[in-house]
Amino acid sequence: MKFISNKLRIENVFVQNISKKYGTPAYCYSYNQLKENIDNFKKKFKSFSPLICFAIKSNTNINLIKEIKKFGLGADVVSMGELMIALKAGIAPKKIVFSGIGKTANEIEYAINKKILLINAESFSEIKEIERIAKIKKRQVEVGIRLNPNTDAKTLNQISTGKKGNKFGVSDKIFHELVKYCKSSKNIKLKCLSVHIGSQILDHQPYKKMLRVVDRIIKKVNYNFEFIDLGGGMGISYENNTKKLNYNKYNTEIKRFLKNKKSKIIFEPGRSIIGNTAVLISKIIYIKENNNKNFIIIDAAMNDLMRPALYGASHRILPAIKKNIKSKKLYEFVGPICESTDKFGAIKNFQELKEKELIVICDVGAYGMSLSSNYNLRPKPVEILIKGSKTKVIKKRQKLEDIV
Ligand SMILES: *Cc1c(COP(=O)(O)O)cnc(C)c1O
Repeated sequence: MKFISNKLRIENVFVQNISKKYGTPAYCYSYNQLKENIDNFKKKFKSFSPLICFAIKSNTNINLIKEIKKFGLGADVVSMGELMIALKAGIAPKKIVFSGIGKTANEIEYAINKKILLINAESFSEIKEIERIAKIKKRQVEVGIRLNPNTDAKTLNQISTGKKGNKFGVSDKIFHELVKYCKSSKNIKLKCLSVHIGSQILDHQPYKKMLRVVDRIIKKVNYNFEFIDLGGGMGISYENNTKKLNYNKYNTEIKRFLKNKKSKIIFEPGRSIIGNTAVLISKIIYIKENNNKNFIIIDAAMNDLMRPALYGASHRILPAIKKNIKSKKLYEFVGPICESTDKFGAIKNFQELKEKELIVICDVGAYGMSLSSNYNLRPKPVEILIKGSKTKVIKKRQKLEDIV
């Protein structure tokens, strides 16, 4: 994405032209950015060739999942719907792991029928439920157990998952008991230890601590895990000049951890694969002056992009056409929804904007469309994939008559 003679372009297509053809708001993905992210991710960890399972919850568009599958990735799913879409996109069952604390009997049965790689269980009750269903089916089911490593991911509280007080995983004490339980079960085969400490992690230190905890517990339970699933959580830069996760250091720590172990590493990245591949194109409906602020009322809202309202997250905002006149007013970008949290940030010294002009909200590929809703009975936006000069609708804009 760059400005060519002041006009913003995604690959070889100008934002203006996308808006003309498909309307706004519109999610717009770059194929080449996706390819670059996956190539880079593989390169970073190539010395131990991990199984990379894309976290489907970060983006559930089947056409994107099909592209991701072509690059050889598997899937991390957290519901029956996600498992179904991963399979429908052609991902091999033996490359799918199933996470989540509340899998129902129905979901477990479906996963067993489909012979996926691992069901990563998160409680004693769940292991017993998997065992019960496996017994009825006369099957031996391969599972992982998710450990809560009590490690602070140093990220937003709302997306931290590896601390003692969080609902995810089991404590080391229960973990120990579960290993013993699985050893004596005929219908459960324990193959994996899994962890996932949170999302949007930019500091490698929490990962380092997590690895130390995992190493200690493996020694303590004295069990050979075929897989160690380290989860996802790798952060991206949402703002200019924010620090970046040091992948080299994380890679070094994992290599150190793997010494005298034969386990295969699994990753479950979502955001780092798809986050920076998309922008949300939106049109300014009105500009409203209030005291010293100008509200820039755009046609995208919190139902289209929930992260700012849900986590207080911020996304870069860019104009579709660059001008050299700066506004003296503080601009607050807001959507039309009847909630005060329906806002995308307040920016000083933004270029002067006029009604009907276009802006883009950046880095919305992860937890953008997948968190969207019909709140205020607004139809969900169109999704477009760009590859070079080609544009393709990968999901149609929802029609009002379908939701009314
Ligand atoms: C959400 C989630 C992920 C993906 O996290 P990202 O921050 O998008 O990489 C991976 N594993 C589990 C278990 C998750 O819940």
